[in-house]
Amino acid sequence: MTKKEQLYEGKAKKVFATEDPSLLIVSYKDDATAFNGLKKGTIEGKGVINNRMSNALMRLLEKKGIPTHYVKELSDRDTLVKKVSIVPLEVIVRNIAAGSFSKRYGVEEGLQFSSPTIEFSYKNDALGDPLINEYHTVAIGLADASEIYTIKKLAFAVNEQLKAFWASCGVTLVDFKLEFGKLADGSIVLADEISPDTCRLWDSATGEKLDKDRFRRDLGGVEDAYREIMKRLEEHISEA
Ligand code: ADP
Ligand code: UDP
Repeated sequence: MTKKEQLYEGKAKKVFATEDPSLLIVSYKDDATAFNGLKKGTIEGKGVINNRMSNALMRLLEKKGIPTHYVKELSDRDTLVKKVSIVPLEVIVRNIAAGSFSKRYGVEEGLQFSSPTIEFSYKNDALGDPLINEYHTVAIGLADASEIYTIKKLAFAVNEQLKAFWASCGVTLVDFKLEFGKLADGSIVLADEISPDTCRLWDSATGEKLDKDRFRRDLGGVEDAYREIMKRLEEHISEA
C-alpha cells in the first residue's frame, strides 16, 4: 500500500489516501504543540516513538478484544489504518487528578480517584475544544446515545488494559485522551493514537513524568523521557 494524495496535515500527524478507499496512511511528525497550538516546538524522534508505541498498544488492545483502526505498521513513521469517520470528541479517562482537572476543581495533582472518571471535549480547535456533556453531544448531533454508550464502555475497557500493562512496566497511567471513529458499517472503533503525547505516564517509584508534560511545562529532558517510556514498553510488551 502506498501514499497517494495528502488529505490532511494536523498538529502531530499527516494523513494520506491510499489505493484502497477504505484505508489511510498516517504519518507521525516530530512537531509538538500545547495549549491549543499556542506553544510550538519539536521533539526529536517523537514521531517514530509515537508511531511504534501507538501501534504496539493498539495490537495489545485488539488482542484483548477492543476494536481499533490499526491495520499494519509500514515504517518507523507510517501506519496503515482503517479510514473512519471521526466522532469529534476527545474522550478523556482519568485515574488520578492532574492537568486541567486539578486546575478546574482546585485539587492537588496526584489525588488518586476511587474509580476512573470520563469526560468529553468537543474536538473543535476554533472553540478551544470545550468540555461537553452527553446531552449536548446528542443535541448537536456529534453522536447518538447508543454510540456514546459504546464509546464509554470501550474507553473504560481500554483504561483497564492499559493500566495493567503500564503497571507491569513500573509506570502509573494517570490519564489519557482517546478518539473513536465509525467504520462504513457504523461500528465504533478506537482511532487516532495512544502515545506519551496523549497519556500522562508517571514512573511508579519516583513519580517522574515520562510524557508530554515535560514539554508543556518546560521541565527539560523531553527526548530522554520519550526514549525511556518506549524502552519500558519494549521490555514488557511481549509478555502482555
Ligand atoms: P489534530 O487534528 O488534532 O491536529 P493530528 O495531527 O494527530 O491531530 O492529526 C491526525 C488527524 O487524523 C486527527 O484529526 C484525527 O482525528 C484523524 N484520524 C485519526 N485516525 C483516523 C482514522 N482512522 N480515520 C480518519 N481520520 C483519523
Ligand atoms: N490530552 C490530549 N489532547 C488534548 C487534551 C488532552 O491528548 O487536546 C490528553 C493529555 O495528554 C492528558 C489527558 O488528555 O493525558 C488529560 O488532559 P487535561 O484535560 O488534563 O488537559 P491539559 O492539562 O493537557 O491541558
